[in-house]
Amino acid sequence: MAYDENNIFAKILKGEIPCNKIYEDEYVLSFHDINPQKKIHALVIPKGKYIDLDDFSENASNNEIVGLIKGIHIVAKKLGMSVNTGKGYRALANINEYGGQEVPHLHFHLFGGERVGKMVE
Ligand code: AMP
Repeated sequence: MAYDENNIFAKILKGEIPCNKIYEDEYVLSFHDINPQKKIHALVIPKGKYIDLDDFSENASNNEIVGLIKGIHIVAKKLGMSVNTGKGYRALANINEYGGQEVPHLHFHLFGGERVGKMVE
């Protein structure tokens, strides 16, 4: 499957539609989810065009992979939910059909600000 250049996160990255930005660097962009499922619901996306975690693992550079993992931590810290600034959080990536992925640009959901609860509903 080819990367869809017009998916909603691609449009956010291109600045065509706005987002409620939390953090940005060379490798990642982070913003609040438009439909929060917990008190804090942030998204962290790589700037590169990757459909999902499998695509990213196979095709991203080592720097991009490190950048995404570090980006998740930076955002969690900034939002006061990392182990050093808060009480923890959940990082989750949905992958393809069975994973329930809706937007075909890799993203990690960060849930926190309260007890996140059961892992799988
Ligand atoms: P997923 O099911 O893992 O693909 O999750 C997609 C997420 O993107 C959902 O939690 C949506 O609420 C969120 N979302 C969709 N459009 C936007 C947007 N324009 N800004 C922020 N979050 C969005």
